[in-house]
Amino acid sequence: RRRAAVSRAKGPGATSDGHRVPLLANIGGPADVPAAVAAGAEGVGLFRTELLFLSGGERPPEVREQARVYREVLEAFPEGRVVVRVLDAGADKPLAFLSSGATEPNPALGVRGLRALLEHPEVLQSQLAALGEAAAGLPVHLEVMAPMVADRADARAFADACRTAGLPATPGVMVEIPAAALRARALLQEVEFLSLGTNDLAQYAFAADRQVGAVSRWQDPWQPALLDLVALTAEGAAAEGKSCGVCGEAAADPVLACVLTGLGVTSLSMGAAAIPQVRATLARHTLAQCRRAAAAARAAEGANGARAAAHGVLSGE
Ligand code: PEP
Ligand code: MG
Repeated sequence: RRRAAVSRAKGPGATSDGHRVPLLANIGGPADVPAAVAAGAEGVGLFRTELLFLSGGERPPEVREQARVYREVLEAFPEGRVVVRVLDAGADKPLAFLSSGATEPNPALGVRGLRALLEHPEVLQSQLAALGEAAAGLPVHLEVMAPMVADRADARAFADACRTAGLPATPGVMVEIPAAALRARALLQEVEFLSLGTNDLAQYAFAADRQVGAVSRWQDPWQPALLDLVALTAEGAAAEGKSCGVCGEAAADPVLACVLTGLGVTSLSMGAAAIPQVRATLARHTLAQCRRAAAAARAAEGANGARAAAHGVLSGE
């Protein structure tokens, strides 16, 4: 018994009836890798590359310097999956050489994420070139995704940039804007996977700035309307036979992780500290129970109602 408990404490993410849900880590750079490995992360679901650029000052870091940092991360997950997000500058992550934030009345609705990279294609190209260099000769499954994708044209522009760079990586896009969730299937005509950024998806679905404390109640990832958008996206991905993960804060809540699984999400990425609890909670429930909890949460009123409904379903069985 004890051995079973120990192996489960480290094993791959799955429901009690064996439905696999890979548990991945959100990292900001190589410094976060040891904790991810210690928590038994099956890979990296979100490598936020902003840190590398923030520390560089006025200019983007050289390709060689970027490649060195990326390789450190890739080497830590030799057989695993590593999802690198290209630079998400602007709004809550301003960068002098990319953002026009100072001149925008609403930076969160302005030129951020992929929009900024498409205005500065040399920065995107430097990242893709560095990733190609970093992955050379490694068996790792490298995936690369764009933040703040609004429509199919955005997804195509990113896929084109990856192709042009000759990157040996699978391209995907984040779903952080309601328009992207509504058109998940169209996005998947251009790229191979989706990753839901529930922090921004909540911000844009509820018109509630994630940096403004007075509207923070809408940042709660349990809101049924947000769960509806997650369900829609996951259903779209399933219809295309492609994967749809979650890499926002929502994935770090063990009961919500079960609900997301019930909604059809195919992997969960979170801060390493949350992985053991999410793994343990998922392992106590069947996929059918997760689906019932998800249905109950979507049928409830408000975030608190959804939370209570899902807890009720999962603790009552
Ligand atoms: C998100 O928006 O949910 C996300 C994962 O990206 P970030 O928090 O870095 O904006
Ligand atoms: Mg985001």
